[in-house]
Formats: sequence, C-alpha cells, structure tokens
Amino acid sequence: MNKASRLFWPTLVTPKNAVVKQTEQLSRSQKLLTELGLVKPGSNGTYQIMPIAQRAIDKCIQLVQSNMQAAGGQKISLPVLTPAQLWKKTGRLEGDISEFYMLRDRSGKQFLMSPTHEEAVTAMLASTAPISYRQLPLRLYQIGPKFRDELKSRFGLMRAKEFLMKDMYSFDVSAEAAAESYATVTAAYERFFRQLEVPFVQVEAATGMMGGSQSHEYHFISPVGEDTLLQCSNCSYAGNVEVFGSDTDAPSACPKCQSAQLSRVRGVEVAHTFLLGDKYSKPLGATFLNTTGKPKTLIMGCFGIGITRVVAAALEVLSTEQELRWPKLLAPYDVCIIGPKAGSKEQAPAERIEHELLQQLMQICGAEQLLHDERKELTIGKRLLDAKRLGHPLTIVVGAKATQAEAPKLELHTSGGEKQELDVAQVLQLVATHEQHKQQLVEGTEQTDTKRSQRVGHVH
Ligand SMILES: [Zn+2]
Repeated sequence: MNKASRLFWPTLVTPKNAVVKQTEQLSRSQKLLTELGLVKPGSNGTYQIMPIAQRAIDKCIQLVQSNMQAAGGQKISLPVLTPAQLWKKTGRLEGDISEFYMLRDRSGKQFLMSPTHEEAVTAMLASTAPISYRQLPLRLYQIGPKFRDELKSRFGLMRAKEFLMKDMYSFDVSAEAAAESYATVTAAYERFFRQLEVPFVQVEAATGMMGGSQSHEYHFISPVGEDTLLQCSNCSYAGNVEVFGSDTDAPSACPKCQSAQLSRVRGVEVAHTFLLGDKYSKPLGATFLNTTGKPKTLIMGCFGIGITRVVAAALEVLSTEQELRWPKLLAPYDVCIIGPKAGSKEQAPAERIEHELLQQLMQICGAEQLLHDERKELTIGKRLLDAKRLGHPLTIVVGAKATQAEAPKLELHTSGGEKQELDVAQVLQLVATHEQHKQQLVEGTEQTDTKRSQRVGHVH
C-alpha cells in the first residue's frame, strides 16, 4: 500500500510577500501541478515529473497500449537520434527547421533529436529483407520522448519542448488497405478518448509538414486551446480553421451542408492522424513483394497521441482553480484513507476500524490503488485539504464519528462531490461501484458515459 508519509511530493511553498516572476503563461493545470508538487519545471520548456503525476502518466500509457494492441499494433522502440541524412531524402529539412534540435556526433555526422519518426521507421523497413504482402498490414508503434524547440513553450506539459508521445505507423499494400488501417486505428482512438470521459471532438485537419492526403485531429474543448474549431450543429461536420488557411479565410457556412449553424470553439489538440500515401516510402525505398513477387512501394499512415499532453489537457478541462479532477482511469490513486490524529481521544478505537477498513479495501481495489495518509501528526482537516486538492476520486475519513457506540459513521468525500456520512458497508459498496465503473470503461461496456461522449465527440 502507498503511504503518504513516504511519498516524494515536493509542494511549492511561496512566501506570502514574494514577487513571483512570471516567465511563462500559466494555465490552471500547470499552476496546480506545480503548486502541489506533481511536476517541477526543469530548464525553460522542460518538466520533471514527480511520483504522483508519473502514476497518472503510466496509467495513460497502459490505456493507450491496450487500445493500440487491440488495433493490431506491435510495440517497438526506435532511437531518439535520427540521421539528418534521412530527413534530407524526404525533403523535410528544406523548410523551416528552427523547431528541430540538431546535433553532430564526434565524427561530424548530423542527427535530429526526433520530433517524429516517419523517416526512421520507413528506413528501418527499407533496410529489411523483402517484406511479403502476406506480412501486411503492419502496424508498428512506440511510446517515447519527442523533441521540439518551441519558440514559446507554455501551459506547462501542454506545450513543452520535450514530451511523451505514442506514435504508430501503418504499412499497407494499397491505398484502399491503408484506408482500412486508418479506420481501425481511428476507431481505437475514439475508444480511448471515450474511456477518458473528457469531452472531445474529431476534426478535419490540415496535413502541414507531415504531408499526405487526409488528416484528422482530436481536440479537448477548452478556452486555453490554441486551435479554433468549426462545428456544424446541422450535420456531423467539424474542422480546424487551419484547413482553410487561416481564421479569416474560414467560411461562415458549413462546407459540407451549407448550413449557417456553424459555431466556433477553442480546442487543445491531443492526437493527430494522417494518411501519408507514399510520401516517405517512395524516397526512402520501402517496398514489399506483391502476389506476383514484384516489389511495390508501401502505403503508409501515421497516428500520434501526445501522452503527457493528454494528461495535462484532461486536468485543464476537468479541474477547478483549487482542486485537480482526474479522468477515473488516470487518477493516481482510487482511494485515499485518512485516520485519526495522534493523541486524540478517539485514536485507539478509530485506528482499529481504520486497519480493518484497509484490509477490506485491499480486497476490493488492490493495495496499489490505495493511498493511506498516515501522517498522524497532522490534523484530519489538513490532510483532507491535501486529499481534495490532489483530487482523489474517493477519500475516506476515519474520525471521531467512527467510534461512536451507536451508528458509527465514516466520512466519504468524492472528487467534486458532497461529503457523505456512511457506515462501513455503504462505503465499501461505493468503492466497489467505482471499481466496477472503471472496469466497464476499460471494457467499453459503460453505457451512460458512452452516450454522453457520443454527443460531444463524433467520427466521420
Ligand atoms: Zn453542416
């Protein structure tokens, strides 16, 4: 079981009269994550992830992985360093390269600290002995750090210079087969974002520096979002204004149904998908042998999810100014248990109830999902304040009322909800219901919430 007294949790204490030097724009998630000691700023635009936040990121990785495996994905790892030579071949070093981290090794050979891996993965396949059409489709993915020398990094983990990304690359025999891979992987994306229960939208997007024929972005709706999205309430159309060049060039009527019911919202981009065709496979010579044994160029797609950005942006959308709110499946712990204060008259009897409760909770959600706040030198009120700010889905207080002879009660606090006074059996029942709901989200059988996200999210 996790013990609060042992947790490395370097909260930020700012003296009341301190002059805070504002070096970058703060967002709600960044402010809370920093103050609560979940994330520490490193050098400008980079972040150090502390244990509580790392748990959420690890859970996000697990969830993304299970969806990628379900979409036929196979996990690989490619080096962070990609030879610049490969990017010269695809022409991607010809444009604006100011966002790339470039370096040379001791022999003078130039590398990129990869912002994305199309060249690297395609060159890997090109150097592989002939691939047969029987091995296709091939859907390879990895989860690792990416680098972008942002001119203005801001909003903490939402736009950092180093970030964690899941990138998948699909390889198919034809444009039609590539479109099938695209449909399979975007369906997995849809499932992932529904599991998070954060309002999202899938929009048509510009292909930009990635190239290719078709592209979609997934956005969380938020006022701090840096993208303007058009949404038609008459049909299913949704698009990023970037598709039209700029905000001022965007149409006032829906490009699909001509309806005037086109609204604008701000979005945080959390994922991006592309049908690439042969943009990378052709110049890098990545081929397969078709049914007649002739080499043909592989047809590609690529699919990214910004893992650290998903976590930060979900917090941005769900949290209040004072308290973090997590998607159920990403919360660092499911349940926080707060026992009596040392030296209080109820300490001994309340501790007996507390320990019995801990045993029962371990049976329901497993020791790993429990945070026992046994910092008994602190008052219950102080520990409860911490628990609320950290946004645990469920916090249980075993205080004086737990020891009263008639109708002993525990306090149950739900994230964003009211305090309830319940007996032990009722508390255990609510914890079991929470675990059940999580399981349903993972399995995709949660009816009510699926309906809710169908309303806010949609697929083409
Ligand atoms: Zn429309």
